[in-house]
Amino acid sequence: MKVFEKAPAKINLSLDVLSKREDGYHEVEMVMTMVDLADRLEMQELSRDTIIISSQAGYIPLDEKNLAFQAARLIKERYDVRRGVYIHLDKKIPVAAGLAGGSSDAAATLRGLNRLWELNISNQELMELGAQLGSDVPFCVQGGTALASGRGERLEPLPSPPQCWVILAKPPINVSTGEVYGKLKVSEIQNHPSIPAMVHSIRTGRFDLMCRSLGNVLEEVTLDLFPEVRQLRQSMERLGADGVLMSGSGPTVFGLVSKYSKAAKIYNGLRGFCKEVYAVRLLI
Ligand code: ATP
Repeated sequence: MKVFEKAPAKINLSLDVLSKREDGYHEVEMVMTMVDLADRLEMQELSRDTIIISSQAGYIPLDEKNLAFQAARLIKERYDVRRGVYIHLDKKIPVAAGLAGGSSDAAATLRGLNRLWELNISNQELMELGAQLGSDVPFCVQGGTALASGRGERLEPLPSPPQCWVILAKPPINVSTGEVYGKLKVSEIQNHPSIPAMVHSIRTGRFDLMCRSLGNVLEEVTLDLFPEVRQLRQSMERLGADGVLMSGSGPTVFGLVSKYSKAAKIYNGLRGFCKEVYAVRLLI
């Protein structure tokens, strides 16, 4: 038996940090959605009781550090499944990019193994399992568009945003999410994004308002650490994107564009100096 799952990348349309909690996590409010750039997972039953991960991407761990491995181990332990699985990850989402590639692989593994082993686990339970693997995993299990709060695991589903082109560009640097949050001084944040304005733009299908409401309090931290991210952001604006923002803790910057001709111009303009550029649609 074999099952296939798609693991799409997420972008943050809005990311606000409200406070630092006693448990070390930050209290956040985020509007998240998915884009049509996805890893593909193939899961195959093994006769031996073991978990094997493979991938064509040479730069991710294939042992218990891989989030897909951790998801498989968690589901096996929780539901006492004494069967093995071979998971192949066809990576398309750039790694350590702020696009939740690992979290989405973990979520796809939970969904896929639920089917492969016919466990009948509810979506709610899968999301609770996902929360043990990472703050973004419950959203990746649920998919769509959502307002997330808490450490990102409390979700309120939102309708689909107005459709548009999304140009993603990742400069060749690695950003540590922990370092970015560590450098954030919550009491000194000057510009908190308006989450209600973003939610309103989505509920009313207003693309112009959605572009104006984009905001991410982590941007300043990453932009100060890596000037090349700031330059990329400026280039995207100069090339005419309707709205521009860094996703998560970066370094990927995305531009929203309503017209295909403009999307093509931005894509071609960026490709000259940035190797990892993608033009995709929102996954709605
Ligand atoms: P987020 O936006 O949730 O912070 P990210 O997009 O910044 O995530 P990932 O691509 O998930 O980052 O990778 C972060 C780290 O996790 C990498 O350093 C990588 O080694 C490790 N990792 C573990 N499992 C995976 C996986 N399946 N795919 C990619 N990276 C993985």
